[in-house]
Amino acid sequence: LGNKLQDILDKLGRERQLTEAQVKASMREIRMALLEADVNFTVAKDFVARVGEQAVGQQVLGSLNAGQTVVKLVHDELVQTLGGESAQPSLEKSGNVWFMVGLQGAGKTTSAGKLAAHYKAKGRRVLLVAADTQRPAARDQLEVLSKQVGVPVLKVADAEAPSETRRRIEEHLARDPRDLVIVDTAGRLQIDEVLMDQLAALKAELAPTETLLVVDAMTGQEALNVAQTFDARIGVSGLIMTKMDGDARGGAALSARTVTGKPIYFAGTSEKISGLEPFYPDRVAGRILGMGDVMALIERAQAADLKAMEAKKPGDFDLEDLLTQLRQIRKMGPIGDLMKMIPGMSRALPEGFAIDEKQLQRIDAMISSMTVKERRNPKIIDGSRRKRIARGSGSTVQDINKLLKMHEQMKEMMKMLQKMSGGGGKGMRMP
Ligand code: GDP
Ligand code: MG
Repeated sequence: LGNKLQDILDKLGRERQLTEAQVKASMREIRMALLEADVNFTVAKDFVARVGEQAVGQQVLGSLNAGQTVVKLVHDELVQTLGGESAQPSLEKSGNVWFMVGLQGAGKTTSAGKLAAHYKAKGRRVLLVAADTQRPAARDQLEVLSKQVGVPVLKVADAEAPSETRRRIEEHLARDPRDLVIVDTAGRLQIDEVLMDQLAALKAELAPTETLLVVDAMTGQEALNVAQTFDARIGVSGLIMTKMDGDARGGAALSARTVTGKPIYFAGTSEKISGLEPFYPDRVAGRILGMGDVMALIERAQAADLKAMEAKKPGDFDLEDLLTQLRQIRKMGPIGDLMKMIPGMSRALPEGFAIDEKQLQRIDAMISSMTVKERRNPKIIDGSRRKRIARGSGSTVQDINKLLKMHEQMKEMMKMLQKMSGGGGKGMRMP
């Protein structure tokens, strides 16, 4: 019992700083997770180096251990790198021209249709332009989508000159005013100089307000090269990551975003016209790290812990606080199992991390059998009260004695730690 409570105390009260060794150990695992998620090697290396540098010396957070704290820092930095909040393309009252570019098969045509549906539903008057001058089938594909969405489409002719395309768009708008023109273009399977020149020429003619690079999330490592080249040759203002419904972990998003520095506006989530969602950096960050719900769990534990610790000075720590903390830990369920799902976490966890659910239950029962007065002021718990509490919780007086002694030690230690850290009951600091 003693060791378990000691462990819990370690997680609750002590302000510790991440050491270089702790960070280094976790960072190796994080880099592996990034590479597994198909983040470009250089991007992963730079990211880990940058975050590692920031992490050393940071406070170990609330109820988390060192490894979990590093994961939290990495996750937060990943969210920031992916753009923080979800971003929206610029949209004026009128005169919006969006230019879709990307490799063949990335999902340009599909995404053009999705965008048309999305913005039509928001009350926009959309015109789709099928500007693939090479493949009539590609123009037909957009025409089918335009009918499905219920917006007009303008199809260019084979090998049509950019100036002619512009003239025809203007002619259409004069007759049928539209405030958002979405231009679908040709793609190639690989980066191709001739295509780049054609796209640059058409872009110069149409002067789009957004140039959206469509990137297939399944392309993994190649995403970096694609994004870099398109941005250098044509100039990109934002990204759309398609096929996020596949099993790609999202490394392509991090690579494309890092190398261009441009916002990721949307995620394609199915072949259907409705399969377009805002891009949520926090979701994708969790996916890249392969954690999902575990992160939510860490955050919940941390929020509750911070609230509890901020409310009181360590010296005030009473049995109610202990109960609150225990329940917090218990609510997290078989936490050992969950933590093992985080890449590399099983090795980063301290030995004996597994919390014995039965023991937690017993302590919970004992404190629950006390009156609020007793919990707030354990000094009043005399012999007859101990007997009553033991009976009520199905334990022995010795168990109660042990619990009270342990609590007393925890309290003393918290006072001591408070003195050591300069007093003042600072509470926890966020990074
Ligand atoms: P383009 O050559 O860049 O115009 O690519 P297309 O729009 O023709 O899309 C190529 C293929 O990818 C088609 O089969 C689409 O249905 C599919 N596709 C596009 N976006 C998505 C997406 O977000 N999820 C899934 N599952 N499939 C997609
Ligand atoms: Mg196409």
